[in-house]
Amino acid sequence: MIDSADLLTGLLSRSAFLSRLGRQILRANESHTRLALLVVDINGFAQTNVTYGYSTGDVVLRHLARQLKEVARKQDHVARIGDNRFALLLSHVLNRGHAELAIQKLLRRLEAALEIGDQQIAVRVTVGAAMCPDHATHAEYLMRKAETALATAQDEHEPYCILEKTDAGGLDLSALWELEVELGSAIERGELQMHYQPQVDLRTGRIVGAEALMRWDRFRGEIVGPDVFIPLAVRAGKIKKITIWALNTALRRAGEWRSDLGPLTVSVNLPGELAMQRDLPELVENALQLWGRPQVRLVLEITERSLMDAPRGRLILERLRALGVGVSIDDFGTGYSCLAYFKDLPVDELKIDKSFVTGMLEDTASLDITALIIDLARRFHLRVVAEGIEDAQTLERLRTLGCDLGQGFHLGKPMPPEGFRQWLLDLPAHAAHAPVAQPATGKTQRLVDPGNS
Ligand code: C2E
Ligand code: MG
Ligand code: MG
Repeated sequence: MIDSADLLTGLLSRSAFLSRLGRQILRANESHTRLALLVVDINGFAQTNVTYGYSTGDVVLRHLARQLKEVARKQDHVARIGDNRFALLLSHVLNRGHAELAIQKLLRRLEAALEIGDQQIAVRVTVGAAMCPDHATHAEYLMRKAETALATAQDEHEPYCILEKTDAGGLDLSALWELEVELGSAIERGELQMHYQPQVDLRTGRIVGAEALMRWDRFRGEIVGPDVFIPLAVRAGKIKKITIWALNTALRRAGEWRSDLGPLTVSVNLPGELAMQRDLPELVENALQLWGRPQVRLVLEITERSLMDAPRGRLILERLRALGVGVSIDDFGTGYSCLAYFKDLPVDELKIDKSFVTGMLEDTASLDITALIIDLARRFHLRVVAEGIEDAQTLERLRTLGCDLGQGFHLGKPMPPEGFRQWLLDLPAHAAHAPVAQPATGKTQRLVDPGNS
């Protein structure tokens, strides 16, 4: 029994807890019930030991163990799974809300300072939570998922994080798990790359810049698309690190682009999870200080949804603007925009989602939506970009509708950094300024030879 219990707190040890967790998962599976696993970390515990001594550290650990036992019901299980890390397994929970209640109860219990002699010690914790079967159905994986949520909360300086319901995207959990683990060190292994897709002024045919799109060259050969790995990075708590890397890389590369074409923009996608974080302007400012060049303008693409969720959004956008950064609303038309927010939202650009653009010649509803968005942009003095232009006819139609900028396979596919740099160099100076369409003949002059991409 001794090695299954933690001597200091009397709670289950990590290994005993994992086997208990395995059994509980089996039981939950049989009874079709749900479990929530909470992982609880004491903030700044090392500092507590240094400042007050190890015996005080022990008192803090016992105190937290007691609070966890108070929160636990009789069907729940509490363990000490690391030096300053605990786990609470909640059985028979109905939904995330149930886990949230338990977390809030724990946080409330910890609000009062712990008194040791004449010392008052604030015991602060961060909690990560994952659910079974929603996020994993295996003890080790569930533990990893809860630890991932904990890392997200720590990264975001939030007191807790409960994982969202997963969208496994057709991959089974163990394949996702493998990807998630590898993604953590993909930057260090040099497997992440930014590709660049040209954006063109539809009226003048001039190149105006490029969108930076991330690729993961897993094992140097298997390309994993951002639609798969960005959500994984979010769940693994790696998205901030990856986005900082993307910002710095895109700005560094854009600084190497041909400079006689006038100022060029580089557009970087921001995940919704980061878009409204308070320290975003600071991250952007740091990247600009390192890599910013007068001939390059940074645009950040954020989705409609991330804008709407955040009341502090406006302030953040204003700070970005003060840095000279443009803000673009990506995939416009697919969220649920409230038109009222256009009245005073500090954004510069709308990007019409490619699902409308690609099908607009065959589908009148898509064409109408595209035309409406262009009109909306004009009324609010916003630039409008159509993405997903796959042929000359679509391009011509967009031009006549008054769309400002275009992007799509017809104009240029996303290219690796060297390829895009060379592509720019190969543009004859006059072609870089030539009209995309010749109105007299109606023929389209393509800026890009698709063979080059
Ligand atoms: P997005 O920002 O809307 O990017 C446009 C997507 O459309 C890109 O897919 C691009 O390759 C694709 N595309 C461009 N032209 C055409 C076309 O003519 N036809 C069609 N069918 N598709 C076209 P990609 O690169 O697979 O990126 C998918 C999404 O992943 C992006 O959508 C963006 O939301 C996300 N993403 C890409 N890179 C990053 C990144 O660095 N950070 C973050 N957070 N998200 C990224
Ligand atoms: Mg985009
Ligand atoms: Mg888009």
